[in-house]
This record gives sequence, C-alpha cells and structure tokens, in this order.
Amino acid sequence: MIKVYHKCGGCGKKTEFVNSGRFRVNANGNRVDVWLIYRCRKCKHSWNLTIYERTKPSSIPSEKYELFLENDPDLAETYGNDKEFLKKNNAEYKI
Ligand SMILES: [Zn+2]
Repeated sequence: MIKVYHKCGGCGKKTEFVNSGRFRVNANGNRVDVWLIYRCRKCKHSWNLTIYERTKPSSIPSEKYELFLENDPDLAETYGNDKEFLKKNNAEYKI
C-alpha cells in the first residue's frame, strides 16, 4: 500500500493519512460525488479524496457504484494504490 501524506486540519501539520477503506457517496439531483476517505494516523481527522465529482450516475458503471456503496475493500485498495488518483488529489505519497 502506498503511504500518503497530507497537511492535517486537526494536527495542523503534514502527517500520514491512512486509507479508511470506506467510500462516501453523495447523490445530489442528477449528479453524484464519490470520495474515498482517508484518516490522519494521529488524530483521525478525515480527508476525502475525490473519485467522481458532479458526475452523471449513468456514466458510472452500476457494478462499480454498488461496490462504492458496499465499501468494497478491494476497490478501496485499488484506489489507494492508484498514483494517478493520488496525484489528481494533490496527495503526497511514498511507495
Ligand atoms: Zn491529524
């Protein structure tokens, strides 16, 4: 698993953030946001990394959408190891 670092709003400094293995799905009208939740290793402050932002539900494969709702651990790990995903979220990481 790639280690991720981010400035923590709780600790006030850069700390390691850990993949919580949980997704947050927010459906708003005909747009959906999906995040993967990371937590500060020290204070558990959460940081949501964007997977989908204001996306039409029809453009998310329904099997994948189900996995988000089920907090599928394999999918969470896949994103946690996806460098493009981490870069897009301005995450600092070490392999
Ligand atoms: Zn913290």
